[in-house]
Amino acid sequence: MNRKYRKTLIAGNWKMNKTPSETKQFLMEFKGMMPKGRWCDIAFCVPAVCIPAAVRAMRETRVGIGAENCNANASGAYTGEIAANMLVDAGCKYVIVGHSERRAMGETDADVNAKVKAVLDADLVPIVCVGESLEQRELGITEEWIAMQIKSALNGVGENKIKKVVIAYEPIWAIGTGKTATPDQAEEVCCAIRAVIRKLYDAKIARAITILYGGSMNEKNAFELLAKLDIDGGLIGGASLDAEKFVKIIEAANQPTT
Ligand code: PEP
Repeated sequence: MNRKYRKTLIAGNWKMNKTPSETKQFLMEFKGMMPKGRWCDIAFCVPAVCIPAAVRAMRETRVGIGAENCNANASGAYTGEIAANMLVDAGCKYVIVGHSERRAMGETDADVNAKVKAVLDADLVPIVCVGESLEQRELGITEEWIAMQIKSALNGVGENKIKKVVIAYEPIWAIGTGKTATPDQAEEVCCAIRAVIRKLYDAKIARAITILYGGSMNEKNAFELLAKLDIDGGLIGGASLDAEKFVKIIEAANQPTT
């Protein structure tokens, strides 16, 4: 982390877990345990039906609520889909875009780019996920692959909008597997992502962009990961479903930095 230049964000991704009633119960409990430090932003990205309960529970706190996906279109005949302006009206602040689980369901780089633009147009914060497979890592093409994903996701995103974007580096082989990238592995890629942003925009923007690590981050490994200069927070799946573990990760983000 480098709090001098950029925000730290600890964001939960609940995936397809918890009902609206469970959301209310969980977040009320979490509210009572929330660390008092003000070093980092906190978010819960929850299933769409849980958004109203989450927004109500976290009202007047510094916790933002996010969606896990949205449609790139503003409205129309897209049965079952949710537009970014609907998420705004529901009280969301963040939207996860391009999670590898959605890419595995057929979401393309072009889809991700269209969603990023729709989310930014609605004045929400996209948490743009990128990451390599184990095979790509073993072939030694991690950085090229991720550079391509980022260039594609941010295609047409101007300097006035990029400031709102959060990038999450999530190696696919580390998501939900209990296999975490080592702090050095995660830092290497997050640093390479910042270099891509520098090339696409400029040094000031690269220095200010928040880059998260995601992939089996938990209360045990968070401190070491977050101690790395280019890792500005975490996108956390499994451990965000447990209030005590999530609080410990937030506390790890409150560690002193240089
Ligand atoms: C995720 O879903 O974005 C994620 C990182 O999951 P987990 O923490 O469970 O690996």
